[in-house]
Amino acid sequence: MENRLRLLYGLQRVDSHLDELHELKGDLPHLVEVLEKKVQDKETLRKGLESTVKGALVRRDEIDLEIITSKEKIEKYKEQQFQIKTNKQYDALTREIDLAQGRIITLEKEMETIEGKASTAKSDLAVVSPELEELKQELKERQAELDLVNKEHEDEELKLKHERDKLVVRVDKNDLKQYERIRSALGGNAVVPVRRNACGGCYKRVPPQVSVELRKNERIMSCEHCGRLIVSDDIVESYNSAL
Ligand SMILES: [Zn+2]
Repeated sequence: MENRLRLLYGLQRVDSHLDELHELKGDLPHLVEVLEKKVQDKETLRKGLESTVKGALVRRDEIDLEIITSKEKIEKYKEQQFQIKTNKQYDALTREIDLAQGRIITLEKEMETIEGKASTAKSDLAVVSPELEELKQELKERQAELDLVNKEHEDEELKLKHERDKLVVRVDKNDLKQYERIRSALGGNAVVPVRRNACGGCYKRVPPQVSVELRKNERIMSCEHCGRLIVSDDIVESYNSAL
């Protein structure tokens, strides 16, 4: 029985240590994740704006060219009108000229719309680009911080995890279940020592007869107030001296 209690207490010590390491990382892992998502979203936004500006430039060149061609056509039609013999031919050329002029007006309107869109996209880019760079920088810094914390405690964490694996196979299956249940319900400590007749978890008084019984190390006992498993000082000491 003493061994069962010692194993449980040992598992708790290892888990507490792992909890401490986890706490050192704090919000960093979550923060890095959130920043990564933000960078991704802003990158997509920037690419969209850039392609709007690029597309507008291409279309503007096309429109420029078409306007020049239309104007050339008009000049040509006007010259032809001087050499025309019939009214019918003259009217046909006039219609062509009107058509070409109408097309120029449509193109000029489109040009205005496109330039409006491009200028909005450009001013959005002027805001988005520095924001993106800032986010990237922040992500880089946070990632570096996290890497540092991870690296600093990598060996320790690995050692503890290994130790935990070794303990878990030795702990009684039912004890382990009970331990995990209490830990997930109360968080942190599931096995606590009793000191000066007080529970090491909730610090409430442990009745003297329970303390006496506990010191025998003959069975698994729990605090009547918080439900955590309680162990005697002997168990703590024998665990410590085995370290
Ligand atoms: Zn308690």
